[in-house]
Amino acid sequence: MTPLQENQSVCLCCAEGCGFYTLLEQGRAAGIEYMKEHPVNAGALCLKGNSVLETVHHPDRIYSPQARHADGTLHAVSWDEAISLIASRLKGAAAKHGPHALAFMASACCTNEENYLLQKFSRVLGTNNITCPALEEGAGFPAAALASMFGYAGMTNPLADLANAQCIIITGSHFLENHPVAARFVFEARMRGAVVICADHRVPPAPWFCDTFLHIRPGTQAALLEGMVIHLLESRLCNLRFIEERTAGFEAFSKAMQKQSLKQCEGITGVPAASIRAAAERYASSRASSLVQTADYAAYPAQTNAARLYAAHLSLLTGHLGRPGAGIFPLLTHGNEQGSYDMGVSPRMQFGQAEFKDQALSSRLTKLWRIKHLPSKEGIPLHDLPKAIKNRRIKAMYIVESDPCGELRAGAEFQNALKGLDFLVVQDRFLTATAKQADLILPAPCWAEKTGTYTSTERRVQWQSRIISPQKQILAAWQVICAVGKKIGLQKQFSYGNPEAILSEINKAAPAYAGITPSRVKKMDGIISPCPAIKHPGTPILYTEQFSTPDGRAHFAAPAYDRKEEKPTKKYPFRLTCGPVNASPSAAPTGDSPAAVPLTLEINPRDAKRILLQNLEEVKILTSSGSVKATAVITDSMPPGVVFIPYIAAAGKDGSLHHLDPRVQIPQLGVQTCLVKKSGGM
Ligand code: SF4
Repeated sequence: MTPLQENQSVCLCCAEGCGFYTLLEQGRAAGIEYMKEHPVNAGALCLKGNSVLETVHHPDRIYSPQARHADGTLHAVSWDEAISLIASRLKGAAAKHGPHALAFMASACCTNEENYLLQKFSRVLGTNNITCPALEEGAGFPAAALASMFGYAGMTNPLADLANAQCIIITGSHFLENHPVAARFVFEARMRGAVVICADHRVPPAPWFCDTFLHIRPGTQAALLEGMVIHLLESRLCNLRFIEERTAGFEAFSKAMQKQSLKQCEGITGVPAASIRAAAERYASSRASSLVQTADYAAYPAQTNAARLYAAHLSLLTGHLGRPGAGIFPLLTHGNEQGSYDMGVSPRMQFGQAEFKDQALSSRLTKLWRIKHLPSKEGIPLHDLPKAIKNRRIKAMYIVESDPCGELRAGAEFQNALKGLDFLVVQDRFLTATAKQADLILPAPCWAEKTGTYTSTERRVQWQSRIISPQKQILAAWQVICAVGKKIGLQKQFSYGNPEAILSEINKAAPAYAGITPSRVKKMDGIISPCPAIKHPGTPILYTEQFSTPDGRAHFAAPAYDRKEEKPTKKYPFRLTCGPVNASPSAAPTGDSPAAVPLTLEINPRDAKRILLQNLEEVKILTSSGSVKATAVITDSMPPGVVFIPYIAAAGKDGSLHHLDPRVQIPQLGVQTCLVKKSGGM
């Protein structure tokens, strides 16, 4: 019997970047083998990781390009025909209406090389209309808040460093269920004597994992952290030396914070002021403290952002940064979310986390890309796209491995709007809700059929080689972009022989990736960015000496946010929260329709009794903006008055529960109020 071949692989089902081996048998991915020597997961894989092979040979995969004829039917076309069609339609739209009539959508499932090339394509054509749903949905990229204070968006220390902390504060929801790798290092820290404090509106499935559990009201993470900041300032439990030597703006920040009160934070969170004080003191007094933040369900994205900023302030006030065990861990959700951010697939930001006004980067890119100038006007953000298409500002779009119709809360709006495009090309592994709208559908390779790099939540850049050949010829997005680029006369800009050649260009373009060369990154544990030079070992711990701001100091800035919340009423008596769960397809790149996953509603036994609800009974959830059906799961983990539904299914099949945050114009991901009634009516 031929022995099975082991192939080094990276799990992309979430952002933690676990490694494993794919076993090959006669060209098919036949199984997985645990990678015990991997620095992140040391051989372990969670439920999602153990099912990575499910999508590889999935019977619903699409394998050939298909074009829509005038009668609406789809017909298989050759790759040559498909490339010619894309080139003529994109070029035609840009020539007639200008480059801003084009829009591109990238994905956190794509490799860094694919995302780099897609944003380059967009910008060489002359527009910043490039988005990535993972970076713009909800309150946006979680680590971005850190950039405003520290000068760089990224988790400050590697996950394994959590084990070195003496005190760990975890805020957000579903930490244990959604972040098993990070949880492993928290357990390790606790075994070494660390104090673990967890704040959540749901009781964790294993509450014993923490020393103190703060049962906060849903979406009040910001108020809890704000209360801790207030107490540290009032009681002068600050690391004045660190503040003096490494930061700026402390006086103004302290003054601004005098207007806030701990009593108010107690009222908002429902956590006694004494417990908030005790948590703050624990955090401040330990030798090395860390803050872990998972997804939060605040009523408004601005509140989520405020929570992220207060976490940064706590670390600055106490000097818990730049050392082993002392850091901030905003845990990302999507496989290559950090890489997507670094590659600049954003309408508001350049490649390499740079602003549009960054002249040094602009001149480096124009030289490297052999173009005269880069577009400097911000592009259209994700949630303005439906309106821009309706207003005929956008005429043609190329969407790669994203399914705005099926996965975003504004899915119905996208569904309606995309019909108004003159040309839509969608490249994906499955016939998603968005692909069904396309004039041209291109198959996409799955992770095992791709080559390139991914950057995990801890900034670890890892290489994935193509390990199997798809059933038929499938061109990866980078190959499509190169072929289309050449067809429209951009040979100089889009001639790459392989992903290694693209990575070599990224090395020249982005200082943080300069030393992450193809030959260096292929080793099993990858390289942690920033890695500014060819011999640089990578930067596991950020800010050991200085911050990434122009003056090298971190900048205090009091977050301005509205503390208001939607309060339960007689009509809508429950607070409705939602979030990702371990089995959620949001993180599993399957392309399955969210509607295929049964929707559950978690409800407290007292509330269930009050409305005469039995476990597993069908219910209808009604909010001011829509309704969905679900199966009730009665559980003590929900506090009375609060109900929970999984994140993706919240878009609902028979209705929509989302509505827009009026100020930031992105879907409100957090707490709403609702009515729960038995499906048969009451
Ligand atoms: S889903 Fe995340 S935690 Fe689970 S195995 Fe994959 S990378 Fe690791």
